[in-house]
Amino acid sequence: MQLYQTNELKIYNSITGEKEVFKPITEGYVGMYVCGPTVYSNVHLGNVRTFMSFDLVFRYLKHLGYKVRYVRNITDAGHLENDADSGEDRIAKKARLEQIEPMEVVQKYTVDFHNTLNKFNNLPPSIEPTATGHIIEQIEVIKEIIENGFAYVVNGSVYFDVLKFNETNEYGKLSKRKVEDLIHNTRETAGQSEKKNPQDFALWKKAEPQHIMRWPSPWGDGFPGWHLECTTMSTKYLGEHFDIHGGGMDLKFPHHECEIAQAEASTGQSPVNYWMHANLLTLNGKKMAKSTGNNILPNEIFTGNNDILDKPYSPSVTRFFMLQANYRSILDFSNDALLASEKGFNRLMEAINNLDGLKTASTSSFDAQAWKDRCYEAMNDDFNSPILIAHLFDAVKQINLIKEDKATITKEDLNILKGTMHAFVFDVLGLQDERNTQDTSSDKLGGTIELLIQLRAEARANKDFATSDKIRDELAALGVQLKDGKDGTTFSLS
Ligand code: AMP
Ligand code: ZN
Repeated sequence: MQLYQTNELKIYNSITGEKEVFKPITEGYVGMYVCGPTVYSNVHLGNVRTFMSFDLVFRYLKHLGYKVRYVRNITDAGHLENDADSGEDRIAKKARLEQIEPMEVVQKYTVDFHNTLNKFNNLPPSIEPTATGHIIEQIEVIKEIIENGFAYVVNGSVYFDVLKFNETNEYGKLSKRKVEDLIHNTRETAGQSEKKNPQDFALWKKAEPQHIMRWPSPWGDGFPGWHLECTTMSTKYLGEHFDIHGGGMDLKFPHHECEIAQAEASTGQSPVNYWMHANLLTLNGKKMAKSTGNNILPNEIFTGNNDILDKPYSPSVTRFFMLQANYRSILDFSNDALLASEKGFNRLMEAINNLDGLKTASTSSFDAQAWKDRCYEAMNDDFNSPILIAHLFDAVKQINLIKEDKATITKEDLNILKGTMHAFVFDVLGLQDERNTQDTSSDKLGGTIELLIQLRAEARANKDFATSDKIRDELAALGVQLKDGKDGTTFSLS
């Protein structure tokens, strides 16, 4: 018997605006697609929050016993500036500014993305397809849409005919927008554009001579529109109709709305059963975003190198901070909030470490099974991690009371408590007790750092400040802070 057979999971479906009982298309299997990053710069903590939200979903579905195929793409072509149909390709622009090849940009920031998500203990997806690896498939989808009468060719570009589509289907059903209203919300006017109507969007764009990211197609050299890759790759790896599609809240429109239109126009059926949208991480009350500079990078958190931070914080503390909020709520980042999370995280880890030494008794003053049921109830209610964490702290309180002989627990209840704590804290929430990892290798690590401190002191004595600063800065980037005091240099790990 799998856990999913005894746990009725409810998911908030953005398209219906309701929490619905989750029923996969194929019993025991889940197909999930999440829009991945556009790899033209380092991921900021806002991006991390969205991927962590879906990591929680992935982990819990797996915990329930589902076989999950989790597809998350890498956008390495076609995403233009301002999410619009004109302007420079984001990756090509970065390549021009850094004077490197577009694929060097893609490689550099894909590696950064993977390293960052690994640090936060996000599980890798089952398949991670790229837009450039699926140009042929994207061209095939465009051909189908043209054949079905929902797209037209102008001067080497192909556009999706939104008004035509809306005669038989409903464009705007996800973002709750009316096609008529969209006319007023677009910056282009009909006369200035080669589009029939301003609501139309590009499936394929003709490449101007200076556009270096280009591929041959039946309509001439060009590149795919941004929305097309997700329709193409989700269909290829999950089928025309699959269970869950996720992404950040800001992708609802136009990206996901256009994905629905493309899928319906090419296959004739609605592609997704449950649409999930993760809410934003804000800084100073405003959306964290690359373009405005209102963001914080993961490395700045691990090193503490940012004015808004009083000290460094570990990846698990940061993860814990994010999971203490519901994935559908806005979360504001601050040093105080992280500090509070660190305290809570340490209390949780200490309690888990104390579990092994607890004495058992003939009676329990704590109903472990009822508590376990409450933990599942929280997660079954649309992955409500803050409520789950509140229940975990109820258990922390009990563990501390039992340790102080102020409460009792039977062997059976202790087993339930241990098993459930480990499953939720480590498998479902994906937290790690970094303090333990540091302890096991502390002798070697400590010795190595002491050696570097000594070399730095020698460099300073020789007035070789370039070397001494390099040692300090590179150690800081690795999460090792040096502090100079009157009795010499000490270090701390973040
Ligand atoms: P991008 O690389 O810009 O396409 O973004 C990758 C993912 O991060 C998308 O799902 C965005 O919705 C999400 N994202 C961007 N900014 C934020 C933010 N401040 N908070 C949460 N998610 C974000
Ligand atoms: Zn997408």
